[in-house]
Amino acid sequence: MSIGARFLSRLLLFCKRKFISAWSAPIARLHRAWYLTKLAIQTLCYNQHLDLNYALDTLLEPIFWFVDHFTAALGPVFVFMVINFLSAYVVIAYAIGLPFWWNRSVPVTCIALILGNYLLINVVFHYYMALVTPPGQPPPDRLLFEVISICKKCMTPKPPRTHHCSVCDKCILKMDHHCPWLNNCIGHFNHRFFFSFCLFTWIGTIFVMIFGAVIAYEHFFLSNDDLNTTVLKNNSTSVTTNNSLYTKLEEQISLLRNGAIIFELLLTVGVFLAIGALGGWHAKLITRGETCVETYINKKEKEKAAKLNKKFINPFDKGPRENWRIFLGLNRPEISLKHILFPSTHLPMDDGLRSS
Ligand SMILES: [Zn+2]
Ligand SMILES: [Zn+2]
Repeated sequence: MSIGARFLSRLLLFCKRKFISAWSAPIARLHRAWYLTKLAIQTLCYNQHLDLNYALDTLLEPIFWFVDHFTAALGPVFVFMVINFLSAYVVIAYAIGLPFWWNRSVPVTCIALILGNYLLINVVFHYYMALVTPPGQPPPDRLLFEVISICKKCMTPKPPRTHHCSVCDKCILKMDHHCPWLNNCIGHFNHRFFFSFCLFTWIGTIFVMIFGAVIAYEHFFLSNDDLNTTVLKNNSTSVTTNNSLYTKLEEQISLLRNGAIIFELLLTVGVFLAIGALGGWHAKLITRGETCVETYINKKEKEKAAKLNKKFINPFDKGPRENWRIFLGLNRPEISLKHILFPSTHLPMDDGLRSS
C-alpha cells in the first residue's frame, strides 16, 4: 500500500471515530425516545384481536359515522320524496288512465278502479303503518328472561335477535334493517307492514303495466293521425279531430302528457325491478326464519361449522310454513287470511323478547 493510500485510510478511520464519539450520545437518546414512544403507543392501542378486518373496521369508522348521520338527517327528505312520487304517480294514473279506459270499456274501467284502489289503499296503509309503528325496543323496566349480551352502546341487556341500529342509536328487537325510505328501523313489530308495503307496491306496478301498456304503445308507436282516428267512445262513436286545430294550449297539454307518460313508465319499471328484488330477497329470508342482520351472522356461523365438519342449524327456523304463519301473525287465533289481504293493524303475537 502506498503512503498516500495509507494516509487516506488513517484519515477516514480518524473521522469515523470522531463522528461516532460526537454523535453516539444524541443517537442513543433519539433511539431511546423512539423506543419509549413506540412502547407508549403500543401500550395504549394494544389489542390481542387485532387483525386486518379489525384494522379496516377502525379505519372505515369515520365513513360509517358519516353514512349513519347522513341517513338519519336525510330520512325525512326520503319520506317526503316517497309521498310526493306516489301522489304524482296516482294523479297521472287517474288523469291519463281513467279517461283512456273509460272511452274504451266501462266494465273494464270499473274493474280497474276497484282493483287499483284496493292496491292503492293497501300500499298507503302499509307504508303509513311501517312508518309510525315502532319496531320494538328492549323494555328498560321489565325483567328479561333471555339475554344474549349487553349492548356496548346502550349499556342495556340484549334479548335474542336484538341488534343495535347505529342510525337510530338504539337497540331494536328482531332488527331487520334501517330503511331510509321509511326513516325507521324495520324490526319485530313493523316488519309485516314493511313487507306488505313492498308486496302491494310490486303488484301495483304489475297492475299499472297491464293497464298502461296499451296507453304507452299508442303514445309511442302510433302517429298522431292514427291516434286521432282510433279514439273511440264506448267502442261505438269514432271521434275525429283535426291536427290543424291544435292550439298552443293543446300542444302544451300534449307535452305535459308525454312527460307524464315517461315519468309513469320509468317509475313503474324502476320500482318493479327494485321492489321485486328487495321483496323477493325478504320473502326468501322470511321463509328461512332469518332477518337481514342474521343472514350475515348465520353465513359466518355456517363457515365456522363447515370448518369443523359440522352443520349449522338456525335456531329460529321453524320450517317455511310456520315461519310465515308467525311472521304474518296467523298464529293469533283471531287472525285469518282476510287480515293479510286487507288492511289490518294486528301485531305479532309474541313480545319479541324470547327466542321461541
Ligand atoms: Zn344498543
Ligand atoms: Zn334504525
